[in-house]
Amino acid sequence: MTQVRDVVIVGSGPAGLTAAIYAARANLSPLVLEGEPSSTSDQPGGQLMLTTEVENFPGFVDGIQGPELMQRFRDQAARFGAELQTVKATRVDLSSQPFAVWTAPGGTGEPAVTARTVIVATGARSLMLGVPGEDRLLGHGVSTCATCDGFFFRGQEIAVVGGGDSALEEALFLTRFASKVTIVHRRKELRASKIMQDRAFANERIVFRWDSVVTAVEGDTSVTGIALRDVGTGAEETLAVSGLFVAIGHQPNTDVFAGQLDMDESGYIRTFGGSRSSVDGVFACGDVQDSVYQQAVTAAGSGCMAAIDAERWLEAHGR
Ligand code: NAP
Repeated sequence: MTQVRDVVIVGSGPAGLTAAIYAARANLSPLVLEGEPSSTSDQPGGQLMLTTEVENFPGFVDGIQGPELMQRFRDQAARFGAELQTVKATRVDLSSQPFAVWTAPGGTGEPAVTARTVIVATGARSLMLGVPGEDRLLGHGVSTCATCDGFFFRGQEIAVVGGGDSALEEALFLTRFASKVTIVHRRKELRASKIMQDRAFANERIVFRWDSVVTAVEGDTSVTGIALRDVGTGAEETLAVSGLFVAIGHQPNTDVFAGQLDMDESGYIRTFGGSRSSVDGVFACGDVQDSVYQQAVTAAGSGCMAAIDAERWLEAHGR
């Protein structure tokens, strides 16, 4: 027979672990299904596990390494009695109370746990190019977050790949630091909105490399250049840059909830009046329900909201 918990939290980035801290301090003994370390996209700790220095998380005047910050979140959650299991939710049934969550591969067998409330904090992953050198140099010149890492490229020449609003927004932000930003786009027309295009075209520090794809990221311990191929002519060359920002879109980690929770057209979970999802008793926080801000501190804030909403829900239902 499976255990019925008050709160099960799926995901262990800043949102999930903040929810765990609050739920644990409310004596709700939350169980956190923190994911598995096997994949780079949804390993325990979320996207901060893939970054190096984090300088914009309030309270850390001198910055902190992403993995260390997440270890501190974990320790704080555990200190108040949150139980963390290094497993992945492979299937959920949110159609009736108590909700059921499976962790066996393929979602087979009995549910691993049942719960009165579920907090979904599975995050989003940046889409990556999948070219040689990209993975190895992630956090060492390859970045997916200009807000987080732009500061490290003061006076340097860098590149951004992508042609949508994200790429242009990242590029415009990066011109505050970098001396030159090359936007590499695989077509001749941008997908981004007109206003963003106008701003980017008007910025003297931004240049465009059209009809080009990045075929490799070069460098031993940090980025020294990117290999480019012109898709029209096939010509190849190396562009010397010390940073590459990959801005080709994000994908929320919502597959396991498909068909059970309302999502927008991009797959982000819709939340209402705080962190409530379309299913009573299920709450969502962090990047999985936020395609706009996607910062550690906003994720943590929404994790706090989800725990308080779950606590109030349990109270209203006689717990
Ligand atoms: P997006 O609109 O899907 O654009 C992704 C871009 O990356 C496209 O230009 C695409 O090229 C390119 N791309 C995709 N896969 C690629 C690959 N493997 N190699 C090279 N290039 C690749 O994604 P987004 O820019 O993240 O924006 C997502 C949504 O958020 C959009 O609705 C956007 O308007 C919104 N957003 C708004 C703002 C704002 O208003 N300030 C800021 C950020 C995002 P193609 O064009 O050839 O497909």
